[in-house]
Amino acid sequence: MILMNDIYKTYGNGVTALNGINVEIEQGEFVYIVGPSGAGKSSFIKLMYREIKPTRGSLLINNKDISEIKEKDVPLLRRNIGVIFQDFRLLPKLSVYENVAFALEVIEESPRNIRKRVMDVLDLVGLKNKSRFFPNELSGGEQQRVSIARAIVNRPKIVIADEPTGNLDPDTSWEIMRVFEEINNSGTTIIMATHSKEIVNTIKKRVIAIEDGLIVRDEQRGDYGYES
Ligand code: ADP
Repeated sequence: MILMNDIYKTYGNGVTALNGINVEIEQGEFVYIVGPSGAGKSSFIKLMYREIKPTRGSLLINNKDISEIKEKDVPLLRRNIGVIFQDFRLLPKLSVYENVAFALEVIEESPRNIRKRVMDVLDLVGLKNKSRFFPNELSGGEQQRVSIARAIVNRPKIVIADEPTGNLDPDTSWEIMRVFEEINNSGTTIIMATHSKEIVNTIKKRVIAIEDGLIVRDEQRGDYGYES
């Protein structure tokens, strides 16, 4: 479903972050992206939701070259790809419920159905009873759950997470991983950049290691492979 073909990315300042990436990811896979800081992990992730475009090469998602999508069609792409960040990025003036409902693309849904959709995802992430809270009234782990609920409310086929546990303590990180596993078990592809050796070595999944903008390792049920 995701096919990267000889992708290069050079930024305006001349730094080449990706140096010829070739990879195929199937629907339903769970993939960790690992590697040292500055290796190109975020650039790899940003390509997939069209935050950046490749300088060269093609990136097909469901047979569509997303670097050729027109700017006006990018929101449509993002509806099919949920994105989760290390720093949550919730809207502080909106409640938990509103943060999630705001992301929901309403396509002729009745208010009752909208409410059901939002409450169902809040239930999935264990936050049904905090729907009226505001982000600053929640713990870091709870804020990340809201951002996960927001990412999946449109039922995307792909969820991309850039160091989602980077700001969380170990116990909370495991809870967040359980939510990701549940989402993955329902058939959603998950691609997650992480620096957590413990998580990668415990919850075994495909591991793609990037160094200097190149894939240097790609293993099913791989190890983290670095000294944390
Ligand atoms: P990682 O996520 O593995 O730390 P990044 O993809 O963020 O790696 O960065 C790879 C390289 O690209 C680094 O040298 C970084 O400084 C550079 N880089 C990242 N984003 C930009 C940008 N917007 N402009 C210029 N250089 C960038």
